Parts: sequence; C-alpha cells; structure tokens
Amino acid sequence: MGSSAQHEHQPTAETKSIKQFDAIIIGAGITGLYQLHRLQQLGLSVRLYEDGDGVGGTWYWNRYPGCRFDSESETYGYSFSKELLQEWDWKEHYSGQPENERYLNYVADKFNLRGNIQLNSRVTSAVYDEKASRWEVQINNGERARAQFLIGAVGILSAHFTPPFEGVDSFKGASYHTGRWPKEPVKFEGKRVAVIGTGPTAVQLITEIAKECGHLTVFQRTPNYCAPLRNGQVAPETQRRFKATYDEIHKRIRETPAGFMYDFDPRSALEVPREERLAVYEKLWAQPGFSKWLGNFRDIMTDREANEDFAEFVRNKIRSRVKDPVVAEKLVPKDHPFGSKRIPLESGYYEQFNRDNVLLVDVRETPIERITPKGIKTSDKEYEFDIIIYATGFDAVSGALTRIDIRGEGGRTFKDTWADGPRTYLGLQTAGFPNFFIATNSAFCNYPVCAETIVEWISDCIQYMREKGYARIKPTREAEEAWVAHAAELASQTLLSDAKSWFMGSNIPGKKRALLLYADSAPNYRAKCAEVAAKGYEGFVLE
Ligand SMILES: Cc1cc2nc3c(=O)[nH]c(=O)nc-3n(C[C@H](O)[C@H](O)[C@H](O)COP(=O)(O)OP(=O)(O)OC[C@H]3O[C@@H](n4cnc5c(N)ncnc54)[C@H](O)[C@@H]3O)c2cc1C
Repeated sequence: MGSSAQHEHQPTAETKSIKQFDAIIIGAGITGLYQLHRLQQLGLSVRLYEDGDGVGGTWYWNRYPGCRFDSESETYGYSFSKELLQEWDWKEHYSGQPENERYLNYVADKFNLRGNIQLNSRVTSAVYDEKASRWEVQINNGERARAQFLIGAVGILSAHFTPPFEGVDSFKGASYHTGRWPKEPVKFEGKRVAVIGTGPTAVQLITEIAKECGHLTVFQRTPNYCAPLRNGQVAPETQRRFKATYDEIHKRIRETPAGFMYDFDPRSALEVPREERLAVYEKLWAQPGFSKWLGNFRDIMTDREANEDFAEFVRNKIRSRVKDPVVAEKLVPKDHPFGSKRIPLESGYYEQFNRDNVLLVDVRETPIERITPKGIKTSDKEYEFDIIIYATGFDAVSGALTRIDIRGEGGRTFKDTWADGPRTYLGLQTAGFPNFFIATNSAFCNYPVCAETIVEWISDCIQYMREKGYARIKPTREAEEAWVAHAAELASQTLLSDAKSWFMGSNIPGKKRALLLYADSAPNYRAKCAEVAAKGYEGFVLE
C-alpha cells in the first residue's frame, strides 16, 4: 500500500502562481476528448491543452478536399455512450472530414468538455518534478501548469512532415501541407498545381481536385496498392439497422484482429485452388473498405508467396484502369509487399491519370532537386506552378511526443529514450517517466476501437491509484525491456519491414527503422492490458 498519497504535494511560493490540476491531457482528438470525459467522471480536476483552435485532432487539421476515414462509419464512432450512438446519424458509409469534425464537436458539447479544454495551446515542454511527483508543462503562450498525471493523447499521425527540400521557402506561389490545410477553401480552377506524395491522403486529394485544376502534376516516389473504397450514402433503413444492432457491431469489432467487421479467411491462400482463389479475390475487390487487406487469406501478411499472388492480382487491376501503358507501369507497385504500407482506398484515383490535364512524374527516375521561386526543379527540368501541395505525411507515432521536450527522472529526455524507436511497456508508459501515460494507440486497429481500450485502462489505473493511495506508477525496466523484445519479435514475423513506410519510420530521414506499431491482434493486446491490471498492475512499480 502506498503511504505517500496524492496529497503529499505542498505548493511552494514559486509553484503557487502556476495552475494546478490533478491531470493534464495533451490533445483534443478522439482519444483526448474521451480521456477528458472519463477523468471528469472520476471527479479529477483536468486541463486539456490543444494546439489547434478547435477540437477534433486529425479531423480538425486534415481538411483537404476528399479527406475521409476508411473505417466503416458505424465502427469508427465511439461506443461508450448508448445515447450518443442513438443520437448520431452517419451520412456516408465512409464519413468525410467535415462530418467527422462536426461529430467530435457534438461530443465535446454533449459531455460538457469545453470548460476544461484550452485551445491554441501547444505544450512545448513537460518536466517531472521528482520531489513533488508532479509534471510541470510549459505552453507556447508562456503559461505553466502542474499536475500529478500527464496524458499524451497527441495522435500517431499529427506531427506533419515536409521533406527538407532545398528552397522550400523560396516558392512564390501558395504552398500547403495536407495535414495543416486552411479553413478557407483553396481555389484550383485554372491553376497549375503540384502534389508531392502518393500515399492515402494524396490519393484522396488528387481524385477530388484533378477535375478542377488547370493542370495537375503528381510527383510520385512510391506507387501504392490502392483499392476501391466503394463509399455511398447511408440509407435510412441502414441507419436504423446500425442503431438497432450497435451492441452486436461492438461485440464483433472487439473480437476481430484489427477492430473491423471483417476477419481473415482461415485458409492459407496458396492451398486454395487457383480458380477458387481468384474468385475470392474478385469478391473481396467488389466489397467496400479494407476487406481486401484485413478480410483476405490468413497468410497474406506473413507469407511472401501468398502476398505476391494477391499483389499481382492488384497490379493487373491497376493496369486495366490506366490507358497509357507507360503511365500504368509507373503506377504499379513492385518493390514492396501488398499491405506492408497503409493501403489507400480510392474512388476513381487511377482514372485521373487518363485525363489530359494530369501528369505523373516518377521522382525515382527524376528526383526533386529543389523547390524554386517558380516551382519544382527535378534532375530533368523545372516545372512551374501556382500551388504546391505537400502530401508528405507525418513523423508517425513517436513524432508528436518527441517534438515536446519531455524530461523524466534524472532529467532524462524522452527523445533520447526513444532514439532507437518506441520504448514502452504495453505501449502505455516508459520507464523513468512516472505518471506519464502515452495515450496513442499503437496496435494495428480501427483507431477509436483501441483508443477506447487505452483510455479506459488509463482511467481505471488512475482510479485504482487514488483508491489505494498511490502517488506514482511507472513500469519496471525489466517489464519494459521484455515488452520491447516481444514487440520486435512479433514485428519480425510480418512482412511489414519489407517496405519503406511510416509504419517503420522510414519516411523520415535519420529516423531509426523500427516497427512503430504493435503487431499482435487487438483482442490479444486488450487481453494483455487487462491481465496486467487484474494482477495489480504487474510489471509496474506503484508507490
Ligand atoms: C487523413 C487521415 C485519415 C485517417 N483515416 C483513418 C481511418 O480510416 N481509420 C482509422 O482508424 N484511423 C484513421 N486515421 C488515424 C487517425 O489519426 C485516428 O483515427 C484518430 O483520429 C486519432 O485520434 P487521436 O485523438 O489519438 O489523435 P489526433 O486526432 O491526431 O489528435 C491529437 C491532437 O493532439 C494535438 N497535439 C499534438 N501535440 C500537441 C502539443 N504538443 N500540444 C498541444 N496539442 C498537441 C494535435 O494538435 C491534435 O489535435 C487517419 C489519419 C489521417 C491523418
């Protein structure tokens, strides 16, 4: 039993001027909002700091044309409130950014969260005061605040990244990053537009804007295996069915490996006769969403031959849609396994390359040398543009945390601690950083499904500590070491390390290659977290 209760902290003259809370949450996305709700329910004094001037996180920042999620809407919404589930109508099967942002604003109002949210407030540092067992955070406006618990709900895809091209600031036209898209509509009519990048974001954006642009040039480094989304409006009777069956939907998505409605086919791909296998592929292709990835044969992500079989099927689909065979071949991925990078879902992407006003530039053949005042200079020529769009992604998973100057016991920095990749126990805490919870989901999972698990685990842990009178929780170094080794072992059993991707951190120059996500199934991950809690937080030190 901990003798040093949460009341051990006595404010000094200096700390009196600093705001005091029980808990500080960083980030007002889907995770941070739910975390705030749960801690409010526990009666804690909480302050949530958010860099943006609105709530929504991903769905606040990524307002580029075509932005939407690729999870089924009825599985993406929170499951924790039956009332909310009955009140909210999803308009599309794969909901777009404006609706997602409205949804999260609705949640902030419904659960009275706004009073404890401070917008336009970027946390620049967080320093652990060992004597007082308090985290002290510094906000970019100069404010400081202290709390017993610090929760980083900073998102895995929120630290936007622009490659360090020479001359980026010299461009005289307009530049945008998709992850920091302006609120005012951008006009493309008659404009010469460049998009750098061909990941899921670029695929959505290009499909949406190609018809508007005077001319669009797409700079591609890595072609992707894009698969049809097959979106549509949610019919009233379907809406009613969702509402009537939410219990079953949520039960199902807690059982499947990645938190979706589909599960892998239990058969090994190559054991199924060719004709039958192709029929399965065609059936998957005709279905909406990620079923081609996560509802495919069970060994598609572990067996190279099985993967290659489906990859070739996808390549042929791409070839059949692009008229110019030279352009088609450029769009066909050949250097990484299917699914080893996040699969972009599309609604007419490949057809855009049949348009007269769209040009594909392969930067592996002709690398970008620099950004110039007029546009983009490749090894081949200078292209002139009115607008350059950087669809160049994120410093994923670790980026939003390591951009904050976090200092734990002995002044050790979080950035140094994670220099070789994420070092955690259960993805939730790092040794040497007591009471700092990492509320970013690193399981391969329909995000909100696993984010709810994490938030509930953290909330239960805080409640447990308060009930038992513990002041601090941190993982033992042995538990952390074992978890890191276990996560690496799981990663080595997949084909994920065969690709350059944000999953591996290899989209960021100088970032150490390591699988940033946890490769076990979501139910296994959930069971491990629950087991640790049930055993009195085994592997953690509570004092
Ligand atoms: C374009 C796009 C499409 C996606 N599609 C899907 C999908 O189909 N399915 C799926 O499951 N997931 C998808 N995702 C992943 C998505 O990020 C998650 O689904 C989810 O929105 C993450 O919620 P979050 O609250 O954890 O993080 P976020 O929504 O990223 O929120 C984190 C917040 O923390 C804030 N923050 C970060 N650092 C600081 C700081 N130092 N100080 C103050 N505030 C800070 C950020 O401003 C941000 O608002 C997509 C992501 C993107 C970018």
